[in-house]
Amino acid sequence: MTPLGTCRFIPPYLLEEIGRRGGLSAELVEHQRRLDSELRHRRTDAPGHPDHPRRAARARWAVHDAGGRTELPGRPVRRDGQPESGDAGVDEAAVGISATLAMYDEVYGRASFDGEGAEVLLTVHYGRSYANAFWDGTHLVFGDGDGRIFRPFTRAVDVLAHEFAHAVTGHTAGLVYQGQSGALNESVSDVFAACLEQRVLGQSAAEGTWLIGQEIFVEGVSARALRDMAEPGTAYDDPRLGRDPQPRHMDDYVDTTEDNGGVHINSGIPNRAFVLAARAIGALSAGGSAAEGAGRIWYDALTGGSVGPDTAFSAFAAATTAAARRTGGAEHETVVREAWEQVGVTPGSRRTTPPPAPDDRLVRVSRSGGFAGLTVRGALDLDSADPRVPEVQLLVDRIDLTALARGAPQPDRFVYRFELCGDGPVDVPEQDLTRDLSELADLLLSDT
Ligand SMILES: [Zn+2]
Repeated sequence: MTPLGTCRFIPPYLLEEIGRRGGLSAELVEHQRRLDSELRHRRTDAPGHPDHPRRAARARWAVHDAGGRTELPGRPVRRDGQPESGDAGVDEAAVGISATLAMYDEVYGRASFDGEGAEVLLTVHYGRSYANAFWDGTHLVFGDGDGRIFRPFTRAVDVLAHEFAHAVTGHTAGLVYQGQSGALNESVSDVFAACLEQRVLGQSAAEGTWLIGQEIFVEGVSARALRDMAEPGTAYDDPRLGRDPQPRHMDDYVDTTEDNGGVHINSGIPNRAFVLAARAIGALSAGGSAAEGAGRIWYDALTGGSVGPDTAFSAFAAATTAAARRTGGAEHETVVREAWEQVGVTPGSRRTTPPPAPDDRLVRVSRSGGFAGLTVRGALDLDSADPRVPEVQLLVDRIDLTALARGAPQPDRFVYRFELCGDGPVDVPEQDLTRDLSELADLLLSDT
């Protein structure tokens, strides 16, 4: 399994949220989901694959037109050194990739995403009303948006730079696209997207908007952007999108099984640490550029060997703190350490903390849904002195969570979630509760 994964710029939870809220037709959401899932099986970065990047002396990038279809890379339209094509999507991608390659070359001394000058293959006009952009391991791919919520994804130069940074990460630290390492993978892409945008606009870290995907929404959507690195959780609040779910501090870290463990959600925490570091370091240096200040520190950490596939927040913080000391001395080191501490991350151990052992004597029940949308929870430790233990133990011994017949949830009816001594969680709609499950729920929820 590759450590990179396929990054989709619009996270799956947001697509589904939009689908639920009627912003995209169900057919379109399904179509997009199918494409995304096919892509995961269509990786083409194996060296023997015909689309594997060539190392050409002259053409460092090539933009292709998929013509609304989903075959990659599509028809070649414009290469490095060629004049404008007249097609807005093609020319926006050309401008974006030129600026991105220039930043990596001039600021970080890096030749393309692999560090060896690989040609960058880009594809625009991908799919039908495709509301996303992604890197599949070989191609940077951009849809034209659905026109109702999303505009074409080539409009925003930070989208392209975000996807390109996934390619850099895949060839360097290889942060696994899951949990904390996945949130770091996402954050690093936002970091270099913001650096690129500010560099293109000639802004300092103090002047930058720190908004990611500012240009992707059509008029009338209540969204300043897709993410706000400086103020995570405030980028959008719209009836069709829901509300920006990003936390800004470890206290609010979101534990979820969706979105590969919340990679697009918890990236808000390291994103804010970067902004705090970039502003502080920018204030100490002439020009105050994020790309050349904190950006260089993050780049050194990402590529320096101490960050690997399973690096978690605290270890990444330690790597950036060490990189700050190497490049800027004690003053920069302190700034970076304080930035991480302000978001609740203490620079420290090098590896992801192991997952806690399953609570194999713990029984949990919760009830959610219902018209008011409230959740009640109950739990019982079978090793405790609680008087309910004998009765609960008897029920747990009888219940087989794997053998339950369950139908679809019904509007406004309750849904119960059971976790029995490390088994589950299993969700059961109210109408499908067995007698034993009802009794167990009554026992555990009675004191709440
Ligand atoms: Zn991404």
